[in-house]
Amino acid sequence: MSSKIAVVTGANKGIGFAIVRGLCKRFEGHVYLTSRDENRGADAVAALQKEGLNPNYHQLDITDPKSVTVFRDYIKEKYGNIDILVNNAAIAFNNDAPDPVAVQAEETLRVNYFSVLSSCEILFPLLRIGARVVNISSFCGHLSLIPSEKLRQRFQDPNLTIPELSDLMRQYVEAAKQGTQAAEWGNSSYVVSKVGLTALTKIQQRLLNDKDIKVNAVHPGYVDTDMTSHKGRLSIDEGAQAPLFLALDAADSVRGEYVWCDKRIVSW
Ligand code: NDP
Repeated sequence: MSSKIAVVTGANKGIGFAIVRGLCKRFEGHVYLTSRDENRGADAVAALQKEGLNPNYHQLDITDPKSVTVFRDYIKEKYGNIDILVNNAAIAFNNDAPDPVAVQAEETLRVNYFSVLSSCEILFPLLRIGARVVNISSFCGHLSLIPSEKLRQRFQDPNLTIPELSDLMRQYVEAAKQGTQAAEWGNSSYVVSKVGLTALTKIQQRLLNDKDIKVNAVHPGYVDTDMTSHKGRLSIDEGAQAPLFLALDAADSVRGEYVWCDKRIVSW
């Protein structure tokens, strides 16, 4: 029951895959590559095994609480605790996606905010004292991208609670359905979802301080993955550097921060 455990969500490809690769090389414990699709997960594990690495695997769909609960029970039974949790899984609609903004808003917020939140609620009880949580945000998670001063103040309120933050996220989805979102929220559901995740990071840190758990948000850089239609400049291994730094190397004093791809703490 004393093995150390690291878990990465959405790790069958892209930055999550490279984070697993980096953890397999450096973390002294079991590294769980998780994916929503078991076949894609098996292919990813096989690719890392060819490199001489040895990740563990479990199915995990962050939008499916049953899947997350099955995973939690499996880890709890087998090891007891989690030492590193990297919340990497996310979606983004292409810029030219035909889906109406209301659909994009609901789906993007459902996956990138509400499902990350519910996965955390299920998995956090397993976090060991001193554990590290890395929430993969984005440059799009910077507060300056929200046009409304009043909203920015709400997000930055040091007493903001998770129910209040979730309510703000729902207000955005509702505004998108009414077609009234642009002036206050801007036009990107992805931005709102990542601002929400960054705000969530700060609240989670407040709630977990007494367990010496570090929760940080990170912009991994503009990375060559399917999500960016391979327009990103950085390789997936370069994109994994700042997340790996937060998972393994950052000083214990780095808590509730928004960290850039060059590992600098940036003002949110
Ligand atoms: P990819 O699209 O390449 O990979 C996303 C991963 O998330 C895939 O493994 C995907 O699985 C998985 N995923 C999606 N939905 C779910 C779900 N419901 N449950 C579990 N896994 C899921 O994206 P990137 O590697 O580029 O992005 C990784 C993270 O980095 C994301 O959080 C993204 O927002 C963030 N980011 C990326 C940037 C970039 O330049 N690439 C810039 C800033 C932030 P599947 O293969 O099954 O679809």
